[in-house]
Amino acid sequence: MTPFVLARSSWSGPEYVRRVGVLGGTFDPIHHGHLAAAEECRVRLRLTEVLFVPAGQPPHKHGRSVASAALRAAMVDLAIATNPFFRLSRIEVDRSGPSYSVETVAQLKDELRPATEIYFIIGMDSLAEILAWHEPARLLSLCHVVAVTRPGVRLVDLASLEPDLPGAGQRISLLPVPELNISSSNLRRRVFEGLPIKYQLPESVEAFIAQHQLYRPSGSTPSSRQ
Ligand code: ATP
Ligand code: MG
Repeated sequence: MTPFVLARSSWSGPEYVRRVGVLGGTFDPIHHGHLAAAEECRVRLRLTEVLFVPAGQPPHKHGRSVASAALRAAMVDLAIATNPFFRLSRIEVDRSGPSYSVETVAQLKDELRPATEIYFIIGMDSLAEILAWHEPARLLSLCHVVAVTRPGVRLVDLASLEPDLPGAGQRISLLPVPELNISSSNLRRRVFEGLPIKYQLPESVEAFIAQHQLYRPSGSTPSSRQ
């Protein structure tokens, strides 16, 4: 794998710049929606690689229990194993305290220097909440934000963000990706209810969930749920 992208595209900045995609998430669990979106970004934006960054202590997920960071990172590791351009980053898992995207991108930028552009990939539902994020203006100053389409989620009007987030129109791009109507919350619910999740996520992750008895009602066993 070459570390640099030589070709220019309408998305590209200067030549010889390494372009790294960063997809953060709770990944509780990772599923084909995440993977298809990341691959579409990789190819269309000519990214050298895509880093998957499981959140250590998700700031937006209070009020429900989240599988441990170690388990979620292990599922990401299994899910990306067959794609040589995908890599797991433990940057948030290893950091104590809340996982703010802006701190993650700042740290990655520092580690990946020199000549690396970061493309921070988020779903359209996440973009709709960007003004509530920690230091969104600083985030935009550090990276390009790529918002991918998600079924049932309206496109965000970038112009409407401009008053609160000057430069949003330039620094944020909307990218259509294959729209897979899959969400982690739905997968957790389905496991809880004993419904199948096959074909919505990699088989290795499905097997891991079964092996570790994730998302089941407490006290239930696989045999008691068939
Ligand atoms: P949950 O239902 O628990 O919120 P999720 O499926 O949204 O889980 P996250 O880990 O929250 O998964 O998502 C990480 C990132 O991936 C977010 O920016 C989210 O918008 C995006 N994303 C998740 N699922 C999809 C999908 N099916 N298509 C496109 N983007 C997605
Ligand atoms: Mg989500």
